[in-house]
Amino acid sequence: MRLPVYLDHHATTPVDPRVIESVVTSMREDFGNASSSDNLYGVRAAEAVESAREKVATTIGATSEEIIFTSGATESDNLAILGVMGIKAGGDHCITSVIEHKAVLDSFRFLEHRDKKVTYLPVDHEGMVSTETLKTVMRPDTRLVSIMLANNEIGTIQQMSALSKVVHAGGALLHIDAAQAVGHIPVDVERLDADLLSFSAHKAYGPKGVGGLYVRRRRRRVAIEPLLVGGGQERGLRSGTLNVPGIVGMGVAFSLASKEMREESRRLSDLRDVLQEGLLSVGGVTVNGNMKSRLPHNLNIKIDGVDGKALISSVAKTVTFSASSACATQSVEPSHVLTAIGHSPESAHMCVRFGLGRWTSREEIDFVIDTVSKAILRLRNIRQG
Ligand SMILES: *Cc1c(COP(=O)(O)O)cnc(C)c1O
Repeated sequence: MRLPVYLDHHATTPVDPRVIESVVTSMREDFGNASSSDNLYGVRAAEAVESAREKVATTIGATSEEIIFTSGATESDNLAILGVMGIKAGGDHCITSVIEHKAVLDSFRFLEHRDKKVTYLPVDHEGMVSTETLKTVMRPDTRLVSIMLANNEIGTIQQMSALSKVVHAGGALLHIDAAQAVGHIPVDVERLDADLLSFSAHKAYGPKGVGGLYVRRRRRRVAIEPLLVGGGQERGLRSGTLNVPGIVGMGVAFSLASKEMREESRRLSDLRDVLQEGLLSVGGVTVNGNMKSRLPHNLNIKIDGVDGKALISSVAKTVTFSASSACATQSVEPSHVLTAIGHSPESAHMCVRFGLGRWTSREEIDFVIDTVSKAILRLRNIRQG
């Protein structure tokens, strides 16, 4: 067992050795510039990119022409939201939810500063967006709705097909942040009827700094403005020399994930249930999120009378998990997701998140239950004493 035991797979995942192999090989062999179609090195690099594009497209039920490679889901979210709203023609209103990732929320804040109108949908105490509420806030000038598929803190998976119908009945476009979903649960752009969908390699055992945006071309051709201009790569939607080894690695990572998903998600949800039961048996512990519609490897709990950050640092040498999302851990502000599902700031600070992963073992889970349970009791005793 390698210490500390890593249970923070929503922040990032280790790179699968089979992915590392493909990245190293690609770095060595495909070093040409994928845009240099006039030389054989460039052609080879372009072939590696196109082969990866096909793998990525297949993973989410898209066609290759619908995949734009980016530096990750942050860029994809920015590109989708600012890209759609940047087109001159169209309504000025857009909708998102209050539990989105900062990459989405800050893109909408940016639009508000440019006089676009944004409605922030509330969620229920399990983190679910209601189709009824969405219906009531849709307007004739609503151009874009952006809702995440799976939440990075509490793991809640939205009833996206139902939300999608409401969006399209209202004549708007649907962007889905699927960074926590792709590679972990089935994601199909046709079944979801998505117009745009963001994903990232490093959340699914691929390298960091690479991701992509699905932009629908079949049935409805979705138009967006680029954020980066220059060499005109990626159909002019994302200029810049392509990160060939990163893209190749993402292709391999996504292929492996879709092949192994069924078995892996069953194994992880079983282990998660063991962890959940073990920690709940300490007493004064409750689960955040939706018990039915939840990521298989997620567990977010509230531990009465225990400060989450104090708990995390007290076991930091042996277990790694998180107080909230990785990007917000610098701040003392309570998580916007936890307050949105009804926690007071005090109660939100008692919440912690565990994210299991491909190499999480039963032995590790037993060790974590033992270590964290003892730490909880210790911290409660200190408080009382
Ligand atoms: C991690 C994450 C992002 C950002 O992805 P990067 O590739 O790290 O930029 C966006 N949205 C969600 C839901 C995420 O979990």
